[in-house]
Amino acid sequence: MTDCIFCKIIKGEIRAYKIYEDEYCIAFLDINPLNPGHSLVVPKLHVENILDADDETVSAVFRAVKRVSRLLLDKLKASGVNVLHNAGREANQEVMHFHVHVIPRYDPHDLKLTDWWRSNVKKLDLEEIYRRIVS
Ligand SMILES: [Zn+2]
Repeated sequence: MTDCIFCKIIKGEIRAYKIYEDEYCIAFLDINPLNPGHSLVVPKLHVENILDADDETVSAVFRAVKRVSRLLLDKLKASGVNVLHNAGREANQEVMHFHVHVIPRYDPHDLKLTDWWRSNVKKLDLEEIYRRIVS
């Protein structure tokens, strides 16, 4: 879709901190991260959410989620991840292009998922986090 911000990132029309890419998906750092390394896994095909996606797209997205999770654990020394998908505006989906949040965790108390709208990361940290992941 021409007015979709994630389609523009996929096409390279908007810059993002892209940390992963395969045939079907890309992953990039969330610009409003809840924790350092908070990333979004996005299919290259524009579909609205998991309810709208065919099974092959869902499989491809979650294969990428697994690889991105491992990348974040290895590179950022996270000890776990939360994987979250919001399907529909009522579920707080803001960008209507299928995306899965992968949120690295460093401590059981570093984040409450009820604090969804709060960030633990200053925007200036994105560059440093990005370099640690892709190095
Ligand atoms: Zn899109």
